[in-house]
Amino acid sequence: MIVFDLCCDAGDHRFEAWFASSDSFADQQARGLVACPVCGDSRVKKAVMAPRIGAKSNQQAVAAPTPAPAPDAPPSAEMVRTVLAAIAAKQAEMLPQSRWVGRDFADAARAMHEGRAPENLIHGQTSPEEAQALHDDGIAAMPLLVPIAPPDAIN
Ligand SMILES: [Zn+2]
Repeated sequence: MIVFDLCCDAGDHRFEAWFASSDSFADQQARGLVACPVCGDSRVKKAVMAPRIGAKSNQQAVAAPTPAPAPDAPPSAEMVRTVLAAIAAKQAEMLPQSRWVGRDFADAARAMHEGRAPENLIHGQTSPEEAQALHDDGIAAMPLLVPIAPPDAIN
């Protein structure tokens, strides 16, 4: 961007205007697109550079500042629902390959984590305390978001 001191022919009003380049100014000037902010005269020319005197405002034609980017918004309820739905869908997809271990889940997960049992996809039940203990030991386990019926609860 380049700023030019301009003045109009009609009233010799001085003002500043921003342009992408010197050529851009010449082009807009030739097409009568640059108008004096005071009287609207489009016969403008570059003003003779003169030292600024006093605090007279002559900046009516400065470019508008670019709007600040929007601050990071917290995730909306809609986004959270979408993410949870995606996780639930993934879990529903994995469940057929997952072995139901019922109340043994914490033990089974720990056994796999410690190499005492082959890595497997399992699902089962834990108490909140067991789930916390697994988490504390760095064992990946996450709550199931899809409703499942424990097989031993089915006739
Ligand atoms: Zn003017």
